[in-house]
Amino acid sequence: MAIDTDIAIIGGGPGGYVAGIRAAQLGARVVLIEKDQLGGTCTNRGCIPSKALLDASARYQAIQHASEFGLTVSSAGFDFAQVQARKDKVVRQLRSGVETLVKGNGITLIHGVGSFIDAHRLQVRLDDGRTEEVTAPNIVIATGSVESRPPIPGLDLPGVFGSDQGLELPEVPKSVVIIGGGAIGVEFATMLSGFGSEITIVEMLSSLVPTEDPEIGRALAQQFERRGIHVHTGTRLERITQSPDGGLDVAVTTPTGAATLHAERVMVAIGRVPYTQGLGIDRLGIEMNRHFIKVNTRMQTNVPGIYAIGDVVGGRYAHTAFMQGEVAVENALGHDAEMDYRAIPNVTFCSPQVASVGLTEEQARATGQEIKVGRFPFIATAKAVIVGESAGFVKVVADAKYGQVLGVHMIGPEVTDLIAEAALAVIMEATIEDVAHTIHAHPTLPEAFKEAALDVEQRAIHVVRRAARR
Ligand SMILES: Cc1cc2nc3c(=O)[nH]c(=O)nc-3n(C[C@H](O)[C@H](O)[C@H](O)COP(=O)(O)OP(=O)(O)OC[C@H]3O[C@@H](n4cnc5c(N)ncnc54)[C@H](O)[C@@H]3O)c2cc1C
Repeated sequence: MAIDTDIAIIGGGPGGYVAGIRAAQLGARVVLIEKDQLGGTCTNRGCIPSKALLDASARYQAIQHASEFGLTVSSAGFDFAQVQARKDKVVRQLRSGVETLVKGNGITLIHGVGSFIDAHRLQVRLDDGRTEEVTAPNIVIATGSVESRPPIPGLDLPGVFGSDQGLELPEVPKSVVIIGGGAIGVEFATMLSGFGSEITIVEMLSSLVPTEDPEIGRALAQQFERRGIHVHTGTRLERITQSPDGGLDVAVTTPTGAATLHAERVMVAIGRVPYTQGLGIDRLGIEMNRHFIKVNTRMQTNVPGIYAIGDVVGGRYAHTAFMQGEVAVENALGHDAEMDYRAIPNVTFCSPQVASVGLTEEQARATGQEIKVGRFPFIATAKAVIVGESAGFVKVVADAKYGQVLGVHMIGPEVTDLIAEAALAVIMEATIEDVAHTIHAHPTLPEAFKEAALDVEQRAIHVVRRAARR
């Protein structure tokens, strides 16, 4: 017998489970279909395990630098199996939190693979081989993404791994060439180098974290080189081959010619592709945007009653999927909701951390409006000096006429937290004056944001301007 429900959701990652909770809050009967584990990529193979490993790596680094604070630590070491066990425990705890939320909201969870029979009917292949049918006037596709593996020779060699496998490494490799200097690549570089691995990053584009303001990418490359991570930008991977010593040779084309890099292992972090395998969306005539499902700002596909959210529509973050999930079901249940993409925080948990929101300087200039830019270094921020992490800066891009904050770009300590205030400023269309009038507690890191905003008007307090020095 078919299960009849108000909303059926395929995929229990950040998009799907949040959509389910919001729909339940609005009084709908919800069926959530998940083929693997609740929490999706984020909880099981993404945000959570990667940050747990990064945190352990950062703590190990902090212990090694304890003497800078006058502290004596007789010996510092790690047991990587225990590091992994702690990461697994964090993942289990947070996944169980999601399970509790789903159950507590009265959502019917079906373990199995969902596919469309028609626009309002799904077939679910259960784990035991049986099938179940679900009918719903509204269906949300939240099937996420998987690692991309382009046809480059050698990517299938033993010793080559992607992020899924990278999170389960039984030991820290002596050396790794990481292909891809985007968020996942630089986070793994930070984590593994913190545990003593020799890291080389190969990035095809001209800077690390290429979706960020180029100034940030350059600053990150400088900091990486300083901590011993080798960075090759503008460099293309040609092929990977087994080397006689059991390691891997990586043939690349650099801006100055061909070169070969060598490492014990190679990590491939060159992006993710949307996952729609076996869903049967082609039968329904759902419009695509390259490989992504095409949606409008209400998260509607071109087929009435079918919504899509998260990585499968091109979102890159769990927090984007969260919001899209809420927007999709609110519309499905007769409310009026729309995605606003102006203030999505971009966050990368490398060291130093990178975060941004809104327009880059280049994008702001391209709109044709006159802009002003302010910057403030963390070295002039008391808290950054206190915690011994003074590399980096905050850059604020503002409209020259009204002072509206258009974009904020940060590299430095805890900027993945600091960006929340900047996101609020962008979404509220706050001005430099608004930020300047907001009293920021001292000594705290957010002071750097206020000072960068003040610098737009050349009135930052804790830095001597060149003109004033005369
Ligand atoms: C290493 C790594 C680190 C990351 N770090 C961060 C971070 O720090 N912050 C951040 O915001 N984002 C991070 N991300 C990105 C984040 O994980 C994704 O943006 C997010 O998980 C997308 O959510 P989603 O719901 O769209 O899809 P997913 O999380 O991929 O979930 C999709 C779910 O659908 C299920 N599914 C697929 N097809 C079917 C089907 N036919 N039937 C039933 N179930 C199905 C899958 O099993 C999966 O559980 C990271 C990603 C990676 C890989």
